[in-house]
Amino acid sequence: MSDKIWLSSPHMGGTELNYVNDAFKSNWIAPLGPNVNHFETAIEEFVGEDIHVACLSSGTAAIHLALELLDVKRNDEVLCQSFTFSASANPITYLGANPIFIDSEADTWNLSPELLEEAILDRMRLGKKPKAIIAVHLYGMPYKVNEVSAISKKYGIPIVEDSAEALGSSYKGIQCGSFGDIGILSFNGNKIITTSGGGALLSKNQNIKEKAIFKATQARDCAPHYEHSQIGYNYRMSNVLAGIGRGQMEVLNDRINARRENFLYYNHHLSDFHELSFLNELDESHSNRWLTCILTQSFETREEIRLALQNHNIESRPLWKPMHSQPIFENCSAYKNGVSEELFEKGLCLPSGSNLDRNDLDRICEIIKNVLR
Ligand SMILES: *Cc1c(COP(=O)(O)O)cnc(C)c1O
Repeated sequence: MSDKIWLSSPHMGGTELNYVNDAFKSNWIAPLGPNVNHFETAIEEFVGEDIHVACLSSGTAAIHLALELLDVKRNDEVLCQSFTFSASANPITYLGANPIFIDSEADTWNLSPELLEEAILDRMRLGKKPKAIIAVHLYGMPYKVNEVSAISKKYGIPIVEDSAEALGSSYKGIQCGSFGDIGILSFNGNKIITTSGGGALLSKNQNIKEKAIFKATQARDCAPHYEHSQIGYNYRMSNVLAGIGRGQMEVLNDRINARRENFLYYNHHLSDFHELSFLNELDESHSNRWLTCILTQSFETREEIRLALQNHNIESRPLWKPMHSQPIFENCSAYKNGVSEELFEKGLCLPSGSNLDRNDLDRICEIIKNVLR
């Protein structure tokens, strides 16, 4: 059996262990410390836009805190992109609020601005203005920032920008993560860079960063003893793991280039097959191409390709199953147009790690071509 090819595996750069060793040498084995501060500064410099970054234990924790900082409470409604990973939506329920799912548009696969506005008007007609919008740059492809931001402003509903998959993507030359009232990143093992597990909350408002850190460290009021006037969480990032993050930031641009190269390779070598299509960038958007996805003509072809790859020890995965089709969310309201259901039926994520080599990509393309011939 040939070596396993993973969908998206961790790719260390070399200096990560030095920073982890620093943590050991200085005994900063805690959910704070110099690596955390340096990692935050490195992200702030990369994203630019005077962004303030708080590193946390996961992207999911960052979304949870973001919604709480935007004052989402029990029985509130939160609009959420339906075509996404469940972690975009789960934190809505942690607060006792209700997700309202919005379908995607065909040209970015993200939140449809038309359906978003329709949903807002409909919820307002029903007597309830939504408290927040969760918009996702799925697979690294930016959503239509201008359109979605305009709707957010028009109705005064803040945006949580889920950039978990989009570190290094940009829209009109501005980095993703900086567009929402609050942005979030993930450093889970499969993301473009990783700390094995981790996340970050981003905001142009320094006060939001400080409040996030306060809540993420058990909401301890200023006193010599432990005094609490709010409920807190244990959501800060470990100084040991932030050491991995510091090393990963040094190779982030290489990782983005490698993933974009993967996309170009697949696109070039599979473009003769008219039954396959790829998601193209719009003029104003630049994707980190976290995962390369293909669309086939039918569920059957999608499955044939997936199973052929599996038989050769190669991992691929159907596109995200929309949240409005998930059993756990079946009772939630959803504004649908059929786009995400079709993407789920016909789409496949191909191996996309920055550590794939030409041989790997060649093997994968040959298998796909054999299915389609
Ligand atoms: C990975 C991911 C998250 C969650 O991040 P974790 O760090 O794994 O908690 C949220 N949203 C999207 C779109 C993701 O891909």
